[in-house]
Amino acid sequence: MNSFQEANLKAEILTALEDMNFQKPTPIQSEVLALFREDIRDCIALAQTGTGKTAAFSLPILNSINPGDQSVKAIVLSPTRELALQIGNDVFDMSKHLSGVNNLVVYGGSSISQQIKDLRKGPQIVVGTPGRTKDLINRGKLKLEEVEWVVLDEADEMLSMGFKEDLEYILSQTPQDRTVLLFSATLPKEIRKIANKYLKSPLEITVGNRNEGAKNVTHKYFSVRRKDKYPALKRLLDMHPDIYSIVFCRTKRETNDIAARLSTDGYNSDTLNGDLTQSQRDLVMQKFRDKQVQILVATDVAARGLDVNDLTHVINYKLPDENEAYVHRSGRTGRAGKSGLSYIIIEPGEIGKVKQIEKSLGKTIEAATIPSGMDICKVQLRDFINKVKDTEDSTQELENLLPEINESLKDVSKDELIKKLVAHEINTLLDYYKDDIDINVEPGKARSSKEGRSRNRKSGVEYTRFFLNVGRRDKYQKKNLLELINKVLTVKGIDIGDIEILKSYSFIELEKGHEKMAISAFKNTRLKGRALSLEVANKRTDKPSRNRKFRKNSKRRR
Ligand code: AMP
Repeated sequence: MNSFQEANLKAEILTALEDMNFQKPTPIQSEVLALFREDIRDCIALAQTGTGKTAAFSLPILNSINPGDQSVKAIVLSPTRELALQIGNDVFDMSKHLSGVNNLVVYGGSSISQQIKDLRKGPQIVVGTPGRTKDLINRGKLKLEEVEWVVLDEADEMLSMGFKEDLEYILSQTPQDRTVLLFSATLPKEIRKIANKYLKSPLEITVGNRNEGAKNVTHKYFSVRRKDKYPALKRLLDMHPDIYSIVFCRTKRETNDIAARLSTDGYNSDTLNGDLTQSQRDLVMQKFRDKQVQILVATDVAARGLDVNDLTHVINYKLPDENEAYVHRSGRTGRAGKSGLSYIIIEPGEIGKVKQIEKSLGKTIEAATIPSGMDICKVQLRDFINKVKDTEDSTQELENLLPEINESLKDVSKDELIKKLVAHEINTLLDYYKDDIDINVEPGKARSSKEGRSRNRKSGVEYTRFFLNVGRRDKYQKKNLLELINKVLTVKGIDIGDIEILKSYSFIELEKGHEKMAISAFKNTRLKGRALSLEVANKRTDKPSRNRKFRKNSKRRR
C-alpha cells in the first residue's frame, strides 16, 4: 500500500496524518493497514522501534472506534512509562480531529486515584504499563467487557522485564473475540508460547530480516586495549563534531564514571541510569531530546523507552550480556529513514562476541580503526571553517560594532587573522593530540575460558564471589540478574564483576567490602514469593550449603 488514502481511513485521521507530515506509510504501516482493509485478525509483527509501529497499530484501532461509545475498546501495553506516554502522545496526535475519541495513559509511580477518575471520563483507548493496568483491572476500575483490541508493544522487552504473568493475566481477562496485535523486535521462545496460547492463527509480518538491526544502520567495531577504551571513545567523539549519541555501558557505576570523565574533558554529556529519581530522569531525557545534551551515557534498562529519532551514533562502550540487547541498542539509530552508525569498542579478546552478534544480526560488523589525532584535527578544522562560513554576519548589531572591530584589527593582515582565528579554535586539540600514538590493536582470538569468564572485572577492583539461589530455571539470564542486583543493593555504585548462571543458582561477583549489606539486602527480597539467599562462595566449585547437605545424605544412603 503506497498511500494512507488507500487504507480507507476516516477523513479526520487523514487530516491528522497530514498535520503530522506523515506523507506515506512506512513498510510496517503498509502491511498492517493492508491486512485490516481486507480482514481483521490477530497478528505478530516483528518490527524494531523506529519503524513506525505505533501508527501501524493505532490507525486501524482509531478507524474502528465509534466516538459515541465511551467504553474501553483497546488496551495497549508497553514495557515502560516513557514508551506508554510516547504512544499516548502519538495516539492523541492521530485522533486530534476525531471528536469524542480519547486515550488515557496509566502507569505505576503516579496517582492511581487520578487515573481512576480519568477512566470514568470514558477513554476508548487505554495505554498502560502491565503492572498498573492489572492493578486497575483488579480494582474493577478498568472494565474489559467491551475490549476489541489488545496491543502488546515491545513484547520481548515486557517479558525480559518480568511482566509475563501480568500480560497473561490481562490477556486472559479480555473477551475471547478481541484482536491481538503483538509487536516485538525479536521473537524468543517465550513470545512464541504466549502467541500460541492467546493469538488465533496470527498473521506474521516481518519488516526487514528477522533480528536484523534497522536496515539503515552500519555496524563497526574498534579493537583497543582496556586502558585505551576511554581515549578511544574520546577520539570517536572528536571525529564527529556534531555527534548526537547514546553511549551504552553495562553498569550504573560505569555510566557515572564515563559521564563524569566526559564532562571534565569538556564534552556536552549527561548520565541516564537507575540511580536517578523519576524527575531527574525526566529532566535528563528532556535535555537530550532538546539536544542541550549531545552525548547520553546510559545503561540498557535506563535507555528503554527513550524515544529519540535522529541519533547519529550508538556507541557500545561495553557490549551487553545478551545479543538481543545489542539489537535493541543499535535499533536506536538509523530511525525514520535516516542512516545511523553503531560503534562497538572492544578489547581484543571480545572478538568472539562480535562474531556472535554478527550472526544474530545477520549483518556484517566491519572492522574499523580509531582515527589518528591528525585526522581528528583535520576534521575539526573543516567543521570549524564550514561553521564560520555559515555564520550569519549581516545583523545590524554587528554592523554597528564593525568600525570598532576594524580599528582594533587594523595592524593584522588578512592571512595573519585567519591563522590566529584557526589557532584560537584548534590549538587545544592540536596540543592534546600532538604526541598521540596508534591505539588500535589486532583483535585476538577468543581468550581462554578462564579469562573469558572474568571479562567484566575491572583492573584494580577486588571482588567477593557470592552464591545466589536464582538460576536459569527461574528464566533468569545475565541481564535479568544484573537488573535484580542493581535493584536490590541499597548502596549504589558497587562494581559488579563476573556473573555465572547455572541451572538453579548463580555465582556473582561484587566489589569487596560490601558483603554484609549485600547479604542483608537480598535477605529482605522475595522473587515470585520465594525468599532470596545470597551467600559468600569461597571457591568457584563451591556449591550452596543445601546441596552439600544433599550430597552427604545421598552418600550416606549409598
Ligand atoms: P515508532 O516506530 O512508532 O516509534 O515511530 C518512529 C518515528 O517515525 C516517530 O517519530 C514517528 O512520528 C515517525 N513516523 C511514523 N510513521 C511515519 C510516517 N508514515 N512518515 C513519517 N514519519 C513517521
